[in-house]
Amino acid sequence: KPVKDLTQQQAADEAADLRPQLLQWGKQYYDADAPAVEDDVYDRVYARLVALETAFPAIVTPESPTQHVGGTTRGDLPKVNHDIPMLSLGDVFSVDELKEFDARLRKDVAAEDGDETGFDYNCELKIDGLAISLRYENGKFVQGSTRGNGRIGEDITANLATLPSIPKTLSRPLTIDVRGECYMPKQAFLDLNARREAEGEAPFANPRNAAAGSLRQLDVQVTADRKLATFMYNIADYEPLDTRTQSGLLDELAELGFSTNPTYQVAHDMDDVAAYIDQYQAKRADLAYGIDGIVIKANPLPLQRAIGATVKVPRWAIAYKFPPEEVETVVRDIEWTV
Ligand code: NAD
Repeated sequence: KPVKDLTQQQAADEAADLRPQLLQWGKQYYDADAPAVEDDVYDRVYARLVALETAFPAIVTPESPTQHVGGTTRGDLPKVNHDIPMLSLGDVFSVDELKEFDARLRKDVAAEDGDETGFDYNCELKIDGLAISLRYENGKFVQGSTRGNGRIGEDITANLATLPSIPKTLSRPLTIDVRGECYMPKQAFLDLNARREAEGEAPFANPRNAAAGSLRQLDVQVTADRKLATFMYNIADYEPLDTRTQSGLLDELAELGFSTNPTYQVAHDMDDVAAYIDQYQAKRADLAYGIDGIVIKANPLPLQRAIGATVKVPRWAIAYKFPPEEVETVVRDIEWTV
């Protein structure tokens, strides 16, 4: 039933049914690295919950999966506090929704600045891996962690230290927390699963779960053998950098020694973004790594800071999710009525 035809009580009842289901799926996905359903199933149920809670804000509960970053921490791994939280991303499934996001953000920026709203976006590929944070003190790698629940992550410094793409020393002696994605390239994933099956072990469901399972390991040698890679794309606080744009941040991170994804593009408007989406939807199958969409980010870093975030997602960025690869045409036709 469309959300607009529901009473608040009906919406509250439906939301109360959806939340435990999403939390259960989330537990299997984030904590056990073993998803029970496909991502698009999760995404659609989640989108319905967001629609219910948006139409009837009074029904939101603090435990709702819309109110916190999914994931917890393994009891046997040491914990790390993220002083600046690691957030999730809001997501959309159509260019129309991207345009709504853009209009809303420009309005918020105008209200914040009372000024010009003619900023660009940086388009990036949404890497299907797991978020990591790398801490450097005076240019030396000192700590690596998972996102966990966004505020408390797992300390996986020794695991991350085995990855060749993570620099141990930066080209400048900066003290920074750099964030990005750890992923398993498609070929490494296929080889790993073939090996596991040959040895009678259960294969990983997808490269994301394989990457997460390989990193969150007490045995560092297991991580070292898994051919994990990284793309870094964010920094907790941009002050120590020279750049003041998201696209410049990617260039500066590369200069510092990080692995960054060179496929980013600056877009002036949503037509440019739509062209980027088309381009990478076509190239998706040929990429060496999995992507599940694209992310657009307001390009000026001071604007990102001024606009801030909700409890769960930045207000200055959004993910456009691709339909799942195998059932692309079918899924495009299914719409939740909201
Ligand atoms: P998300 O993965 O959809 O988006 C946020 C994450 O995107 C960030 O934390 C970051 O790790 C990643 N990312 C990749 N490339 C990026 C880039 N260029 N810039 C910025 N971030 C980038 O959100 P989430 O909260 O981590 O997870 C929710 C998603 O997980 C759902 O959309 C769903 O698809 C999946 N999920 C699936 C199940 C299941 O049972 N199948 C359960 C829970 C969650």
